[in-house]
Amino acid sequence: MKCPFCSELESRVLDSRTTDEGTVIRRRRECVICRRRFTTYERIEERPLMVVKKEGNREAFQRDKLMQGILKAVEKRPIDMDTVEAMVGEIERELRDAYDKEVSSQVIGEKVMDRLRLIDGVAYVRFASVYRQFTDVKGFVETVEQLQKYQDSGEGNK
Ligand SMILES: [Zn+2]
Repeated sequence: MKCPFCSELESRVLDSRTTDEGTVIRRRRECVICRRRFTTYERIEERPLMVVKKEGNREAFQRDKLMQGILKAVEKRPIDMDTVEAMVGEIERELRDAYDKEVSSQVIGEKVMDRLRLIDGVAYVRFASVYRQFTDVKGFVETVEQLQKYQDSGEGNK
């Protein structure tokens, strides 16, 4: 596995453990050259779930892409990696359970927003702004109002 820092191909496995009920093996590695550490995940290859995008084109569901989108939204917010990883795992499982071959990107976006809204208003608005691609102030205001409504209902502060 190529070191993400210096591209060396050899690394030493420091720690190996199974997660997600035994379906994933997580390995903590140290590069033999630059000695920096990184993590790799090994999982069973699944049939690709296709994501149908707004423009109608399709691409295979990528867990990493979902993770990156969420990480961008929670940047500098008090949300730890375990929470994000759990969220991604949960969403992926729900998608694979409910959808056999394809799912619209809208469904995925809504699942992320439902969860972010529960844990952090700022992250929610950030994600929504990218996802809904606000082209004007109106879209932004609507999203904030939806959040407000949700918080006013008392559910947002659990
Ligand atoms: Zn390295």
